[in-house]
Amino acid sequence: MKGYGMIEIGKPGWLDNPRPVCGPLDALVRPTIVAPCSSDTHVMHGGNGPKFNLILGHEAVGEVVEVGELVTKFKPGDFVVVPCCTPDWNELGVQNFKSFSHDVGMLKSFKFLGAKDGVFGEVFHVNFADANLAPLLEGVSPEAALLTVDMMSTGFHGVEQAEIEYGDKVVVIGIGPVGLMAVAGAALAGAGQIIAVGTRPNCRKVATEYGATDLISYKDGDIVEKVHELTGGGSNKTIIAGGDKTTFTQAVAMTKEMGIISNVNFFDVTDVLSMPAYLWGLGMAHKDIRGGFCPGGAERIIRMQELIKHGRVDTTKLITHTFKGFDKIEDAFLMMDQKPADLIKPVVYTD
Ligand code: NDP
Ligand code: ZN
Repeated sequence: MKGYGMIEIGKPGWLDNPRPVCGPLDALVRPTIVAPCSSDTHVMHGGNGPKFNLILGHEAVGEVVEVGELVTKFKPGDFVVVPCCTPDWNELGVQNFKSFSHDVGMLKSFKFLGAKDGVFGEVFHVNFADANLAPLLEGVSPEAALLTVDMMSTGFHGVEQAEIEYGDKVVVIGIGPVGLMAVAGAALAGAGQIIAVGTRPNCRKVATEYGATDLISYKDGDIVEKVHELTGGGSNKTIIAGGDKTTFTQAVAMTKEMGIISNVNFFDVTDVLSMPAYLWGLGMAHKDIRGGFCPGGAERIIRMQELIKHGRVDTTKLITHTFKGFDKIEDAFLMMDQKPADLIKPVVYTD
């Protein structure tokens, strides 16, 4: 089976891997629209340790081609939206943790990113299909739905972790597609001031459309100082959706006492995150530091679609580049890796 991914660290390419096997609770899906994610390129560059001959991709809508004998809700031919995070629902980790992200251990619910071949194959495997496949809601376009499975779900998770309250002063560091969704989510959740940090002109424009009240650039002076100035003393909530290990320290520094720092950024496997103790009130500032990734399962993706269906958010503002044809996954992936200045998110229609 043909698929696009990483041959080894730093070497993306086409692969010929075995077609996945469909277990009794599983489904095989043929992707009809896919999108590359920054996390795919991050893994390709070794951000998640060594991987070989691995098909990448974890954002897809598609057509079911096979289901296991115990699957009751879906059948071949059904059109489905596939959450990027697909827990094994019989595991204790998903019964104990609210986020469903850690079924058999830390981050283990994210099957597509490293544990098995991802969605850039001719077909891909979905475990626990009845719980992990969502129908496409009427009134939601397939491309709008595609952007719920990771970008919206992750950006909104940044907002959920931040526990935004009415009138909060919020900073979103990084306004790629994930951060932009965090801006939209923060506005929906009742934030007052929303300061967005990023430089790409398209992203800045969409950030404003989603509700950012101030835009700042990390390339133009100290963002901590800028945030203190704009907020008159610091943010209540800071969402990290981009940047590097120094961004973490900056986020702690710009957040006020009693605030929450909510990270959804993918740091590197070799990064050491640190901060001077005084930024954390010598350990007593009640500044809550949280980090998580988007929770899995169908219900969440149905709820994300509800927000689109009822006009609360338009995810398609993120789409800046469209490709047609399965082979174009390569172009979209390389574009995501190189991040040209006009890029927010590329999508690929495989047919
Ligand atoms: P992008 O690369 O498109 O966007 C990153 C943003 O961060 C851009 O706005 C960029 O600015 C900004 N940025 C870069 N460097 C700095 C810096 N030093 N200080 C402040 N801002 C900076 O990423 P995505 O939106 O696609 O993804 C964001 C992160 O979320 C990635 O790390 C990705 O791997 C992760 N992710 C995590 C998931 C989860 O479940 N936790 C799921 C999906 C993604 P500029 O405008 O200049 O480019
Ligand atoms: Zn992703």
